[in-house]
Amino acid sequence: MLNLVIFGAPGSGKGTQSEKLIEKYNLAHISTGDVLREEIKKGSDLGKLAKQYIDKGQLVPDEVIIGMLADVLESKKDKAGVIFDGFPRTLAQGAALDKMLKEKKQEVSVVVCLDVDDEELVKRLLQRGRTDDNLETIKSRLEVYKNQTSPLMDYYEKAGKIAHIKGVGSVDEIFAKISEAVDKVQ
Ligand code: ADP
Repeated sequence: MLNLVIFGAPGSGKGTQSEKLIEKYNLAHISTGDVLREEIKKGSDLGKLAKQYIDKGQLVPDEVIIGMLADVLESKKDKAGVIFDGFPRTLAQGAALDKMLKEKKQEVSVVVCLDVDDEELVKRLLQRGRTDDNLETIKSRLEVYKNQTSPLMDYYEKAGKIAHIKGVGSVDEIFAKISEAVDKVQ
């Protein structure tokens, strides 16, 4: 069972590469951002709560995300593995993921980290133009990434699980490098 975490700043290409990985390795896709946007569309209580944070470029509180993830994970049992996209994003979420997988006698197989510099990230996000892709929100999301999410990198580094991939170049070039890293742990 492959448990792949795709990691990187907003705009680093996690979503694009996830789509290709899902197809190649027959994985279930768990994107916390997609789940939250779906809840917002439905107008659910969770969606209403999440929107307040997302619009400001802040993280949705850990307990909300962790509870939500446990439910989603339960619903994706019939694939060769899972790709976690946009989760974990804090050390608490990382610990919660380890615990959830351990209960199933599994673990994180590899963490693919897409490295892209800030200038390029801002450029890409402004082009994408999602409602949370305005300059003010983008700045806040990049700050949040540095302060709350990047400590996870050390955590996975110490566990020997991280594969750094340069996230600049053509989509296919980047995908080839990611595939190489994934094949090593298969
Ligand atoms: P990106 O990585 O491009 O910013 P996502 O679609 O992954 O986009 O997430 C969009 C927003 O949803 C984040 O800025 C955050 O507010 C919220 N979010 C998504 N995943 C998480 C998470 N694991 N923990 C907390 N908040 C999250």
